[in-house]
Amino acid sequence: MAKLTVSDLDLKGKKVLMRVDFNVPIKDGVIGNDNRIVAALPTIKYVIEHGGKAILLSHLGRVKKEDDKPGLSMRPVAERLSNLLNKPVTFVPTTEGKQLEDAINGLSDGDVLVMENTRYEDVKDGEYVKRESGNDPELGKYWASLGDVFVNDAFGTAHRSHASNVGIASNMAQTAAGFLMEKEIKFIGGAVDNPEHPFVAILGGAKVSDKIGVIDNLLSKADKVLIGGGMTYTFYAAKGMKIGNSLVEKDKIDLAKEILDKAGDKLVLPSDSVVATEFKNDADHKTVDGDIPDGYMALDIGPKSIKEFEDVLKSAKTVVWNGPMGVFEMPNYAEGTLEVGKFLGTLSDAKTIVGGGDSTAAVQQLGVADKLSHISTGGGASLEYLEGKTLPGIAAISDK
Ligand code: AMP
Repeated sequence: MAKLTVSDLDLKGKKVLMRVDFNVPIKDGVIGNDNRIVAALPTIKYVIEHGGKAILLSHLGRVKKEDDKPGLSMRPVAERLSNLLNKPVTFVPTTEGKQLEDAINGLSDGDVLVMENTRYEDVKDGEYVKRESGNDPELGKYWASLGDVFVNDAFGTAHRSHASNVGIASNMAQTAAGFLMEKEIKFIGGAVDNPEHPFVAILGGAKVSDKIGVIDNLLSKADKVLIGGGMTYTFYAAKGMKIGNSLVEKDKIDLAKEILDKAGDKLVLPSDSVVATEFKNDADHKTVDGDIPDGYMALDIGPKSIKEFEDVLKSAKTVVWNGPMGVFEMPNYAEGTLEVGKFLGTLSDAKTIVGGGDSTAAVQQLGVADKLSHISTGGGASLEYLEGKTLPGIAAISDK
């Protein structure tokens, strides 16, 4: 069923609690990259332009002891948000109590308030009590009492049951998705539940063990699953091929065999690889077909595989990509990942969905990000969504 979104709500004069993802990189109080704050702007602006009082909650980093708190304050985020919105933003340096309640009650329609880091609640009087990340029922109830409606726009934490997402939602009459969350549900949820065919998944990265749930689920939904990256060679080993010194998970070879048997020709492995004598950019390297020779390790898919992958992709109507095709951090082994990213940018008739830090970095580096349908904002959350799991943060959003 479709989920309620912020545009379904009557916001005028309402205290709108908003769970956003302001978990930005921060060092010595300086924000390294404000992409996540920028990404939250459309929902925040919508709320204030429609007369809501925006009360923003987010976690920032991990708070495990009192000493972690000063470096993980939301204050610099509130200041940056104020610059981006070009209007004053009230920052409240606490997560509960009179100061917070008075500040909220003093808001006028269209005002914006940022509360201190929700994870400050994980440490009380020096003790690691995990009230936020353990979804303490009293905390969710308390935060819910501060607002009239709840908007959850933090997809990155949707796979977790925390007080600031699930806890608040379970104490609210209505929880709506923000625009970012709505887009994640539409594209990732849509690909998993109701893809337009042909549906092709491209899965890469180091380990089979990390991606097994995704491979399994997507084999049951997709028309083809293209495999690249280090996990390829566990599949090679399962087929009895030579893998030289390539990355392999020996304890996953039997599992890889089972997957290969079940998948038939749905699962496509690279037919050639770029192999090197050492895990170094300037090591001796060459392209080989099939078996990896002794003394070499495979660090990227080869040009023939890139061509074969493109042949499968060119007629796709839905594409999901997660994980690099090789050690793309080293220029000599980046071509597979970059070519796949570039090719996705040419597929104007397909829904193209990218998840995971490395694949996202690749499409951004290539400048093709804006040619794709959707770049997920959540690493762990997008993987679990692709595995077909119910994400508690999304389940807690009201149906339309
Ligand atoms: P993951 O975190 O599982 O998505 O894996 C990403 C990492 O896998 C990147 O740091 C890549 O350098 C690495 N990787 C990709 N292909 C290979 C390969 N053939 N051998 C070793 N590492 C690889």
